[in-house]
Amino acid sequence: MFEKNTYPGGKLSEITLGKFRFDKGPSLLTMPELIDELTVLSGYKTNFNYSKLKTITHYFFEDGTKIVAQDSAEALAKELKNKLNEDEQVVINHLKKSKFYYSTVADLFINQSLGKIKNFLNLKTLKALLNLNKLNLFSTMHAENSKLFKSKKTTQIFNRYATYNGSNPYKAPALLNIIPHLEFGLGAYLPEKGMHQITEHLYNMALFCGVTFKFNEHVEKIEVENKKVSGLISNGVLYKSALVVSDSDIHLVYKKMLPKKYYPTKLLSQEKSSSAYVFYWGIKKTFPELDLHNILFSENYKAEFNYLFEEKRPYVDPTIYINITSKFCQADAPIGCENWFVMVNVPHNKSGDSIDYAVDLRKKVVAKINRILKTDIEALIIEEAILDPFDIEQQTSSFGGSLYGNASNNKFSAFLRHANYNNKIGGLYFVGGSVHPGGGIPLCLLSAKIVSNLIEEKKQSVFI
Ligand SMILES: Cc1cc2nc3c(=O)[nH]c(=O)nc-3n(C[C@H](O)[C@H](O)[C@H](O)COP(=O)(O)OP(=O)(O)OC[C@H]3O[C@@H](n4cnc5c(N)ncnc54)[C@H](O)[C@@H]3O)c2cc1C
Repeated sequence: MFEKNTYPGGKLSEITLGKFRFDKGPSLLTMPELIDELTVLSGYKTNFNYSKLKTITHYFFEDGTKIVAQDSAEALAKELKNKLNEDEQVVINHLKKSKFYYSTVADLFINQSLGKIKNFLNLKTLKALLNLNKLNLFSTMHAENSKLFKSKKTTQIFNRYATYNGSNPYKAPALLNIIPHLEFGLGAYLPEKGMHQITEHLYNMALFCGVTFKFNEHVEKIEVENKKVSGLISNGVLYKSALVVSDSDIHLVYKKMLPKKYYPTKLLSQEKSSSAYVFYWGIKKTFPELDLHNILFSENYKAEFNYLFEEKRPYVDPTIYINITSKFCQADAPIGCENWFVMVNVPHNKSGDSIDYAVDLRKKVVAKINRILKTDIEALIIEEAILDPFDIEQQTSSFGGSLYGNASNNKFSAFLRHANYNNKIGGLYFVGGSVHPGGGIPLCLLSAKIVSNLIEEKKQSVFI
């Protein structure tokens, strides 16, 4: 394993500031069974401990409305009825539809490689094809949601799931309404020691399996001979191998590591997902009204996404996400304090750009938190660090700091992600958030599962 950083995990890493610990990137874990499956397969005996969240998110609106989303469709429907006069059955039906989307398309579009014809010649595909007219392929997420719900606030809550893969709900297909099922059907989780425990667990498991990690190794080139990989060059040294699996952003691979003739112009010109601007704040107070996941919504969601994806600027009244792991992991902050991960969606950079909106954005974030939580947050910040799209690109090489590879802002996006292999270069495979099936921890793990199956199939075919 060649890793350019001095630590494993990429976006899934952690930082400490004084007595505070913070997960640096991802904060929400879904589908932990994929990690359990790996643990069992590897024979590694240390358990990966995590718990299912009872409360998923606290939502705050500027007019003082607060919605507490519990972990079941029924509880959410009741809360939306009580606070927003939403029809309970409409909410429950929406989550049933989310489950239907998941059960219809997951096996087809998510759990397997899209590029292999044989994967389409089976019952799962037939089932998906028969249900095609029910998948609302020509509608957007917002169009589907706004037709259903009486309250704009309910629509905003469900539209927000587009941001789980860095997309725009006003453009993304209604099929993205599959995402709420991950939380309300399959469950939202937190590892016992916070998200970084995922990296620690996978790293230790890999060591247990005999993987050698080479840190501070910058892979510069993937060598190709006679249409097959023959190795890679890292820090100027050639390592020979007939098999290379790359987890680098696919842009970087084609731009810097492979000969120009392989560059897939169409696939790489797809719109990229949004990025994030994160403040890590040690706060010298506790806020009982906040939970692990908290959202302070903007008043005009449509304008916010227009800014992010058309104007390519952070919105003037940004939606703010506050994650506080010390609510559950007490060691993450001193007693009487909290570790706030405060994140705002921002556009990805043009590759290599620096950020010119930092001071202004911080003022707006502070003012909004003060308004909604009726506090003076500036006076409570005792530690601070920042992560911006430029840092994300520097630290992980993802294009412009985008979090999830391509955005899903059009109905063909599932087909326009790069496959997990290159059919012109034997022995070369791709995993991670910039390729099929997409960004986010579960999909990255699935990409690895797809690739290990492809490699296994290839081995079998060689021996037949
Ligand atoms: C702020 C933030 C919040 C997020 N929130 C969530 C969330 O709540 N839930 C969720 O599921 N997902 C979330 N994500 C997305 C999630 O982190 C990513 O989709 C996922 O971690 C990507 O994993 P990856 O392995 O594809 O890429 P990375 O984690 O970027 O790993 C790529 C690795 O490759 C290394 N590398 C790159 N190029 C080279 C080279 N040439 N030589 C050697 N090494 C190289 C990098 O240093 C890096 O370690 C979030 C991301 C961020 C940044």
